[in-house]
Amino acid sequence: MIDELARADNAVASCADAAAWALSERELIAALDATHRLQQRLAAVQLAVVRELDGRGTAVTQGASSTTVWLRDRLRLDVAAARRLVGLAASVDVAPPAVREALAGGVVSVEQARVIADTAATVTASAGAEVADKAVGVLVEWAGQFDPTLLRRMGSRILDHVAPDLSDAAAAAALAAEDARATRDRHLTISEQTDGRLRLTGTLDAETAGLLRAAIDPLSAPAGPDDTRCPGQRRHDALADVCRLALRTGELPDSGGDPAQVVVTTGYDALTRQLGAGALDIGLQLTPDTVRRLACDAAILPAVLGGAGQVLDVGRQRRLITGPLRRALVLRDGGCAFPGCDRPPRWCAAHHIHHWADGGPTNLTNAVLLCGHHHRHIHHTEWTVRLGDNGRPEFVPPAWLDPDQVPRRNHYHRRT
Ligand SMILES: [Zn+2]
Ligand SMILES: [Zn+2]
Repeated sequence: MIDELARADNAVASCADAAAWALSERELIAALDATHRLQQRLAAVQLAVVRELDGRGTAVTQGASSTTVWLRDRLRLDVAAARRLVGLAASVDVAPPAVREALAGGVVSVEQARVIADTAATVTASAGAEVADKAVGVLVEWAGQFDPTLLRRMGSRILDHVAPDLSDAAAAAALAAEDARATRDRHLTISEQTDGRLRLTGTLDAETAGLLRAAIDPLSAPAGPDDTRCPGQRRHDALADVCRLALRTGELPDSGGDPAQVVVTTGYDALTRQLGAGALDIGLQLTPDTVRRLACDAAILPAVLGGAGQVLDVGRQRRLITGPLRRALVLRDGGCAFPGCDRPPRWCAAHHIHHWADGGPTNLTNAVLLCGHHHRHIHHTEWTVRLGDNGRPEFVPPAWLDPDQVPRRNHYHRRT
């Protein structure tokens, strides 16, 4: 085996020197296929070697704690790759012989072999070895056409093809077992971190996962061409949007007699002169910019304190844009008014162009509809908004973005 591998090594080394540019397109494609087949065959040989080394406990005699750890050092792999190699070697080893033959023959790739081996194990458990052998035959044939992901999906219904009489019962049993597991394992942990942030971890059952996706997926799309948030940030903001909407309905259960809502406490000076900070009622500190932004939002209740700490202003007084005024605003703007944004009105807050804490009036000419993302954008960047000659909002980009500062408008929302 060593001699043969050395010969193969020499042969491959001479290919590395060959000039690919001199080949015709047809030869290039043939070369691509050949390298892939060779790669898979070589991987099969390596898996057999790893399996044998693992079985003999070589890692321990070499002073390592496990085969994974030893492979990591020996081959300078990262831990995940070393673990994958050991796992793959084990699952191919216990798979029906047809899987190993297909792998050694270069008929299936290593990843496909893993899928087939996994499926064979499931089928053996539910329908016996004979049916599993049949399933392997079908899957090896399919592997000529389908990538590992698709193959796995098709493998989950393999009994339809090889044992239709068992299929429904097995599928129902598998589904019931999966459902019981999901119900038992469902949980959501919210752990507070020292800097006021929360860490969310958990596992949702299928139904709740469906609800979450239905609620946040449409909100997780980029909000226009200027949106530079990464997908994780967009999902985070979508969750905030969903919570804001739920609070705005006023239908959440009371908490201690008060309606469920977020209360922001701030000093009057903080709001008017953008000094100092605010605090959320759960005890988190906020920057002045954030306090001013939250104070626009009807889902959040600002409690403004005077110099001596007396409460000057609590609650939804006339400064908040609600009721008929909000409806008029929705008619005028049709959704988030920021250029290029397609968010409809229900995801939008009414922003005061001239902040109410600075004496800005609460009327249609001082309001603009903005989604959560663009509301943040207006408060925390150098973009500004004003009403244009035709009474529609227009947005002025910062000078670093557009030296001429030509106002931009949203042309997305159709108006009648
Ligand atoms: Zn605002
Ligand atoms: Zn927007």
